[in-house]
Amino acid sequence: MTPEQIAELRAKRYNGTVVSIHKVHSDLMILRVNPDFVRPPHKPGQYCSLGLGQWEPRVEGCQEETFKEGDATKLIRRAYSLSCSILDTDGSLLDISKSNIMEFYIVLVRETGDPSHAPRLTPRLFCLQPGDRLNVGEKITGHYNLDPVQPTDNVIFLATGTGEAPHNYMIWELLRRGHSAKIMSVCCVRYRKDLAYLETHEALMQRFPNYRYVPLTTRDSHTSTKKKYIQDLIVDGDLEAALGDELDPCRTHVFLCGNPKMIGVKVKNPHGEWGYPQPTGVIELLEKRGFVADNSQQKVKGNIHFEEYW
Ligand SMILES: Cc1cc2nc3c(=O)[nH]c(=O)nc-3n(C[C@H](O)[C@H](O)[C@H](O)COP(=O)(O)OP(=O)(O)OC[C@H]3O[C@@H](n4cnc5c(N)ncnc54)[C@H](O)[C@@H]3O)c2cc1C
Repeated sequence: MTPEQIAELRAKRYNGTVVSIHKVHSDLMILRVNPDFVRPPHKPGQYCSLGLGQWEPRVEGCQEETFKEGDATKLIRRAYSLSCSILDTDGSLLDISKSNIMEFYIVLVRETGDPSHAPRLTPRLFCLQPGDRLNVGEKITGHYNLDPVQPTDNVIFLATGTGEAPHNYMIWELLRRGHSAKIMSVCCVRYRKDLAYLETHEALMQRFPNYRYVPLTTRDSHTSTKKKYIQDLIVDGDLEAALGDELDPCRTHVFLCGNPKMIGVKVKNPHGEWGYPQPTGVIELLEKRGFVADNSQQKVKGNIHFEEYW
């Protein structure tokens, strides 16, 4: 494709500008984008899409892509939860209404584990520079939000990796509202360097006595012999200890986001019966303790809410 054709496609398909990129490391970034349109009304926890053309470059060291006829001019779009830095530079809670910027927390997927399906968007997103243009979905949507939470409910956010993005925005909203019950956020990653918002959470704990952040790393040298996953925290009672309260289904909402294996949504077997997947996920552990997961197919609205990233 010629540079002129690329410039024309970009002008036609892109409607947002990269304002800043914080590369936490080569494979993890906080991306801030200014859409050309007024940021649509939305609720913390929701997502929109980001997109780049197939014609854009990819970072090296990613699974090889195979092209199909007609792919060259296509736009690749994926869903991304809106994230939030929560605190302003002076340590006060951000005033999000002051700007039109949308924040995203994105990990580079180098391999999907499926030889027939190479990751398409993130290898391109990680080539972006401030000032570059991209496609931003004009609709922010999603069922994953704070609607079911009452002011006296404890709220527990459990995430893997960039699954903490929507949680950060919901934590900001709860703190802004002056939520007085307990708020806890757990994030499980491989290495401490994968916790982009760690300092923010530490500052929040200093400032808000009802807020607790628990980072879990599974591959750091000091944790590799006794690594803990989110499921282990629940089984061992560490989650309640960190919360400083019982896991009482009558006054607790649990939000789960990220890796579907951590979440463990019930699936239908070939006979049409619902069952829990293996390995055991958080939903199975919590439902055995009286919690109920949302189930849109069965029109159930429970106190476990989840967003699967794949
Ligand atoms: C509602 C929703 C919100 C999302 N929000 C975010 C977000 O805030 N940040 C984010 O990084 N991703 C998020 N995702 C995942 C995102 O949509 C893309 O799937 C991901 O960025 C990979 O895109 P890709 O085109 O490079 O790979 P794809 O072609 O989409 O390949 C998908 C494969 O990549 C892997 N994968 C996808 N997402 C992740 C991830 N986050 N961590 C590790 N492996 C992953 C899985 O193996 C999956 O099968 C979200 C997904 C959904 C459905």
